[in-house]
Amino acid sequence: MFGKILIANRGEIALRIQRACREVGIRTVVVHSEVDADAKYVKLADESVCIGPAASKDSYLNVPAIISAAEVTDAEAIHPGYGFLSENADFAERVERSGFVFIGPRPESIRLMGDKVSAKRAMVEAGVPTVPGSEGSLPEDPREIVRTARAVGYPVIIKAAGGGGGRGMRVVHTEAALLSAVAMTRQEAQAAFGNPNVYMEKFLENPRHIEIQILADQHRNAVWLGERDCSMQRRHQKILEEAPAPGIPRKAIERIGDRCADACRKIDYRGAGTFEFLYENGEFFFIEMNTRVQVEHPVTEMVTGIDIVQYQIRIAAGERLPLRQRDIALRGHAIECRINAEDPYNFTPSPGRITAWHSPGGPGVRVDSHAYAGYFVPPYYDSMIGKLICFGETRDQAIARMRIALSEAVVEGISTNIPLHRELMMDEKFVQGGTSIHYLEKRLAEKKANQG
Ligand code: ADP
Repeated sequence: MFGKILIANRGEIALRIQRACREVGIRTVVVHSEVDADAKYVKLADESVCIGPAASKDSYLNVPAIISAAEVTDAEAIHPGYGFLSENADFAERVERSGFVFIGPRPESIRLMGDKVSAKRAMVEAGVPTVPGSEGSLPEDPREIVRTARAVGYPVIIKAAGGGGGRGMRVVHTEAALLSAVAMTRQEAQAAFGNPNVYMEKFLENPRHIEIQILADQHRNAVWLGERDCSMQRRHQKILEEAPAPGIPRKAIERIGDRCADACRKIDYRGAGTFEFLYENGEFFFIEMNTRVQVEHPVTEMVTGIDIVQYQIRIAAGERLPLRQRDIALRGHAIECRINAEDPYNFTPSPGRITAWHSPGGPGVRVDSHAYAGYFVPPYYDSMIGKLICFGETRDQAIARMRIALSEAVVEGISTNIPLHRELMMDEKFVQGGTSIHYLEKRLAEKKANQG
């Protein structure tokens, strides 16, 4: 096992990784930007290294600075967390070439899955069902594009091959709007992801977002750890996740889970990963794979009792998975609310000093957050300041505990989306379970219309 790990991330996930390391006696190095220097989680690490100014490109994306921090501190491995460099194959390669272990998949796997077109192709080959659409990237020829869209059937969605974070997507309802939408998405894709390739999918009108968590070791053992329902989204971004997914037959989940584990063995995947699907009318359609730990991993940890971050480390160290599929049993239900520093209804970010902070507690309540009273939420990074996760023996109990936890939570000095989560926990359709990916947006639009 490693003696020392460098954490190339910030905020709650930097703290989460530290906790996993400390439990097994691994020392930690946290790298940080100038504005994060005084954060408590930085002080909690065994060592810390300032790697540059606030702007991510100068610090958390500054590869040479991160590598030299690992060199001067004698770290053996680097955990990238999520976001930032976590899905950057060049970074993973650089880490390994510099003599460190990258805690994640092989660079080849990151590259394969980082391009959504090659990812879909690999999934087709591995026997995983995908969303109907163009075969590979769209060509230049406008007639070809029109023909493809007719064959797929409107509405279609144009997506950037290199896209991520809910960006680089455009829905097209009519042929008249098609070519300009393709041109605009190409331009945006080039600017945002440095890759102008786009592809086309059928736009599913009423799907749920269901994803499968997997763990695979370096010896071709792979297991899946149940599913998560992440349908509560705004602008294609998740705000609330739960496990298991309400109302989906276990047999259907088992079939798709086994396919995902098979696919991992086929592509010789290693580490933690997530296969994301849209689920409609009883069918699963693969949309993408994330080759890293996800924000919503705690709900899976709560229902499986498996520490996903610790397994990432053990797998990177070369250990064999001691788990077999039959050992993995789901128990109870877990819900996660992402707590963001933002206006709960118009979603403008709300950075600033937290003046009062009261964290909820009690049976089944987990808070993953680096925030505290007096903490300054910097304006430079993602607005998520923590995650509130509640476990119950049943979904109803998880909801009841989440209601209590949200009523106890106090964050003052900045705005947060806690009021929105409180409303959602009382929402009739959410309580029923099984809402589609469009539900939250529709609900917000209705609320606005009623107020206007
Ligand atoms: P990203 O990498 O940016 O997260 P994804 O491909 O995972 O992009 O898609 C993010 C979200 O966008 C999905 O969870 C879903 O809400 C929506 N979406 C993507 N593809 C489709 C589609 N074909 N039909 C309907 N919604 C889609």
